[in-house]
Amino acid sequence: MKILVLNSGSSSIKFKLFENQKAVCSGLVEKIGNHQSKIELKILKTGTKMRRDTHIGDHEKGLKLVNELFEESGILKDLNELDGCGHRIVHGGKNLTEHCLVNDFVLEEIHRVSSIAPLHNPAHLAGIKTMMKAAPKVPNATIFDTAFHKTIPDYAYMYALPYDYYTEYNIRKYGFHGTSHSYVSQRVAKLMGKKNEEINAISAHLGNGASVCAIENGKSIDTSMGFTPLEGLIMGTRCGDIDPATIPFIAKAKDLNPDKLDTMMNKQSGLYGICGYNDFRDIISEIQNGNNLARLAFEMYCYRLAKYIGSYFAILPYTDALIFTAGVGENAAAVRKLTCEKLKHLGIEIDEQLNEENSSGEKEISTKNSKTKIFVIPTDEELEIAKITESLIS
Ligand code: AMP
Repeated sequence: MKILVLNSGSSSIKFKLFENQKAVCSGLVEKIGNHQSKIELKILKTGTKMRRDTHIGDHEKGLKLVNELFEESGILKDLNELDGCGHRIVHGGKNLTEHCLVNDFVLEEIHRVSSIAPLHNPAHLAGIKTMMKAAPKVPNATIFDTAFHKTIPDYAYMYALPYDYYTEYNIRKYGFHGTSHSYVSQRVAKLMGKKNEEINAISAHLGNGASVCAIENGKSIDTSMGFTPLEGLIMGTRCGDIDPATIPFIAKAKDLNPDKLDTMMNKQSGLYGICGYNDFRDIISEIQNGNNLARLAFEMYCYRLAKYIGSYFAILPYTDALIFTAGVGENAAAVRKLTCEKLKHLGIEIDEQLNEENSSGEKEISTKNSKTKIFVIPTDEELEIAKITESLIS
């Protein structure tokens, strides 16, 4: 089966084409609506790269160019040759709790949920509509970041606000990165010789956005992100948990309206807010240069992460595995080391040599004595989306 996976952002379209669950090519349409827009495509087997620098006014033009490059490279004659297209959707809200094929109800719901995911859902919707127009015969599937967390019990997803806020505005924890948490926990189940529904794990997806998930018998029972992807861990530019009373205080002190507060907490906070860097490669080299704020940001990050992981050890009856994934989780050995050291009294023991080894694949980094195994698993959300799309079509 030929499946195209699309992740449409407000000014970008990330795409990856799979044939029988093997990645054929991947690419990115960038800076849509900007004069510096471009499209890049990489054929994975040969490493051949194709690139066009041209004005790409909207998503429709972007997808047209994807189609042209597919044709030029001989990968596909036309998008209509696809068996299906899987769209990554950040927020499914309370009604879209299962991955599904697109119909009018799904489109309406994604639109309705845009009010709580304004940065993501409108762009996803544009991606789906563009694809429906470009290839009318190809079925589209929507794969929700929130769907994996539908099993979180009510006492864990509710906030202790007046109950009306839940019934009227659906304010509750939804959780995100579900496709990634699900994928890496399935990989670990396989590596440990268990069925997916037998695995108890704590998965730490640490990228620009970051969340931890407690997984019992293969199901999410709690996660650190909440109503939006702002809650929980300290992230690249997001603050994560703070005392909610600081928000009205700052609003008054700095005369900030809700939009500006949102921008401050999402784009000017986190690691960047503390030390001016949001990339761990910079932070680690700054620490080596003696930058004390970089040291502080690094320690705050690992401390918050260890606190969340520790609390998930408390709610799981036992934990087979602790999993690190995404850009930071896969590459920043120093983050894994300090976080695991803070959890040592729980019987978690990291093997420092295995942890430091430079390898890009899946690896176990715990000592033989560790009560819980520790894994580094490169995430592959696109492959997971392709697999789910295939199963929905068939
Ligand atoms: P993601 O959102 O999963 O692409 O993760 C992006 C983040 O991963 C970057 O902002 C970096 O902080 C981190 N990262 C990527 N590569 C490395 C690396 N080699 N060492 C440390 N951190 C890295």
